[in-house]
Amino acid sequence: MLIKAKKSLGQNFLVDKNILKKIVSISNILHKDVLEIGPGTGNLTEYILQEKPNKIFLIEKDKILFDQLQLKFQNRVEIKNEDILKIDEKNISNKKLIVFGNLPYNISTEIICNWILRLKKDFWFSELILMFQKEVADRIVSKTNTPNYGRLSILLNWKMNVSKVFDISPNCFFPKPKVYSSLIHFTPKKNYFRINKSSNLEMITRVFFNQKRKMIKNPLRQIFINYREISNKLKLDLNSRPQNLSLETYCNIVREYEKLKS
Ligand code: SAH
Repeated sequence: MLIKAKKSLGQNFLVDKNILKKIVSISNILHKDVLEIGPGTGNLTEYILQEKPNKIFLIEKDKILFDQLQLKFQNRVEIKNEDILKIDEKNISNKKLIVFGNLPYNISTEIICNWILRLKKDFWFSELILMFQKEVADRIVSKTNTPNYGRLSILLNWKMNVSKVFDISPNCFFPKPKVYSSLIHFTPKKNYFRINKSSNLEMITRVFFNQKRKMIKNPLRQIFINYREISNKLKLDLNSRPQNLSLETYCNIVREYEKLKS
């Protein structure tokens, strides 16, 4: 298949067979329903099909690639020519989906935040296996008290178990991207810290990490008039920095904020 890759759609196709094989072996696909977003030329799709899923759904925004995928796979896949940012994923299947995606980097971050934070009820997926720019992946998997720990780590670890599977060299793609990529595996947590609104966790972490290098006394004071009382109750060290507070502590701060507002 001869394709002129479109930069605007982040088209860097994975061509390294070893990596493609490793990606499909991350999860047990047999008899499951799979969704692949941005299948491109269908390189990964072929490997997914070899693992005998029950069904595979593809969503590809590029009309030219969509037409070629239809020709290539015919009735072995269910394919839609749509933008993943505009569809309602809950309507794709009534079974929980295993999702694979090597999308443009900015889209990966946007959809993952949408899926995890805006979710009203149950998750419509059982697993997400998504590609990110390595730098972003490192922030997503970072632990408290490390330099890359920040909003992304907190927001995405809140409801999900998150692990980096491996880094992928630019040489595994065609055309080659400028940076390294990393694959991240997300599975829903059975138990997570309950808060009323995810938007409050977004807001609180925004206020804290806007002043990343300052002591937490500043953001706390900005959010609570009675900040001393709150810091005593939650046993916060006012001299610590936003990077020193755990996910649990951020959720506790959100709960205090929600009590105040209710
Ligand atoms: N997964 C393939 C292709 C990666 S390139 C592989 O690894 O080889 C990224 C793919 O995502 C391209 O096919 C591009 O057309 C598609 N894409 C980009 N934006 C999209 C969007 N918003 N919705 C669905 N597909 C999109």
